[in-house]
Amino acid sequence: MRGPSCLAQVATYRTRDDIDSSLPIFLDVKMRLMKLATLCYHKVGTEAKEGRRLNIHPDRLDSHVRFFKRRNYRFVKGSDLVQWPEEKTVCFTFDDGFVSTIDNGVPVLERHQVPMSVYVVSGFVGKASEWEGELARPLAGWDSLRKIQELGHEVGNHTVSHLRLGDLDGSEQRKQIRECHEAMLAEGLHPVSFCYPYGSLNAESDQVLQSSDYQVGLALGKRLPQTSDSQLAIPRIVIAYGDALPLLIYRLWIRPKLLSSK
Ligand SMILES: [Zn+2]
Repeated sequence: MRGPSCLAQVATYRTRDDIDSSLPIFLDVKMRLMKLATLCYHKVGTEAKEGRRLNIHPDRLDSHVRFFKRRNYRFVKGSDLVQWPEEKTVCFTFDDGFVSTIDNGVPVLERHQVPMSVYVVSGFVGKASEWEGELARPLAGWDSLRKIQELGHEVGNHTVSHLRLGDLDGSEQRKQIRECHEAMLAEGLHPVSFCYPYGSLNAESDQVLQSSDYQVGLALGKRLPQTSDSQLAIPRIVIAYGDALPLLIYRLWIRPKLLSSK
């Protein structure tokens, strides 16, 4: 009984007519065991326009969304991560609020009718990501951010000036979080979750975040969240330009296993 039904499953799998069907089946089975995937993107555009660093081509982003949709993942916003999900869940987050993210990324997510979370730096809204030096790119203005909030996406807090909070004391961290929060409220945005620039935090950060009335803090890590993680420092995996589906799976599932076994 087991043999034929297994073969039938493989046959079905191989008839799918997109790039997804080229994935080794054993990886796909392992992916089904993954409960919560938190992905960190930045810019969305062509290599010619946005470069490769912290960027993804819109078509590749589309393939990532379809990958999770096909596996019946639930799509949530960062603010929904206040509770550990009971079903397979994925959260697409976009740091910094680039114009390219709004122009090229939002249409992809809208096409699939799934939510995204965009984290903005209040002191640089409508300007450029100057902390990237020569690689700086335009950042969306308040009007664009309000529009994506109206579409049902989340616009969250990413501090006033994109400093590494891990290098700051508690009161300086609080100032970065509060001032961004107030600027966003004044512009009609309602930030609920927070995102640490560079994923940088220190021993004071969770207390500061909590006392600033944030219940969700998104950090970075080379692994996906576990139930033992604090909601104030949820790890996300940074996605790179070259992350076609096999590499996406490597980042999400294989590399964390390899690192944890060292
Ligand atoms: Zn950032």
